[in-house]
Amino acid sequence: MKKIIIAIDGYSSCGKSTMAKDLAKKLGYVYVDTGAMYRAVTLYALRNHLFNDDGTVRIDELRKQMPNIGIAFKLNSSTGRPDTYLNAENVEREIRDMEVSSHVSPIAAVPFVRAALVKQQQKMGTEKGVVMDGRDIGTAVFPQAELKIFVTASAEVRAQRRYDELKAKGLEADYLDILKNVRDRDYIDSHRETSPLRKAEDAIELDNSTISIEEQNHWLMEQYKRVCGDHHEIILQKLRPKHTP
Ligand code: C5P
Repeated sequence: MKKIIIAIDGYSSCGKSTMAKDLAKKLGYVYVDTGAMYRAVTLYALRNHLFNDDGTVRIDELRKQMPNIGIAFKLNSSTGRPDTYLNAENVEREIRDMEVSSHVSPIAAVPFVRAALVKQQQKMGTEKGVVMDGRDIGTAVFPQAELKIFVTASAEVRAQRRYDELKAKGLEADYLDILKNVRDRDYIDSHRETSPLRKAEDAIELDNSTISIEEQNHWLMEQYKRVCGDHHEIILQKLRPKHTP
């Protein structure tokens, strides 16, 4: 059965993970949230005082401590989705808070952090059958991915979505702080030297500012079918629940 690699890149908070998770579930593929990996390194750095007062990273100290940072994903049976673990501790909730969000982009700009995480991400895709979301999946992690999507939406729409998401989880949220964070991350992510955020030449762009999640999922499935041709029906039939009369 033909399995492919699906790379979903784009700006912060534009719903990449929602579409990637839904597609992975429908196809029976593994879903990998690479942003969670950068967030886990950031949480480690915050806990171990690896930031200077001006928010820059203590590079030499982080380099020394990189071997102590173990990141893994384990399926959460109640949500049916993978949770992120930092050195065997479930940090899924903590890595989503604003403290981590506002420190993650400088960490993600450090070349040896990227090299270590990209290597781990490439290992996760050796068997294919993976949907990976991030910033550099189609350009650096899997330039050979069979299907590449690049997602955009206006900064205001993205900030509102992140605000709603945090509130729904019962977390503290301030819309203007989030909007600033979204814009700051866009800037740092697209201007860093190593693997800046950019659309791969062969990626298909989707601006989802004004479309619903259902429309987006439908569009994505159409892209998958286009790439996989006849194989997709066989895969989907196998995955469809069997109804007993
Ligand atoms: O996707 P998410 O917003 O959780 O990612 C958090 C941050 O991690 C991004 O703002 C970006 O700085 C970094 N990142 C990255 N490359 C990836 C995934 C995320 O640089 N592949």
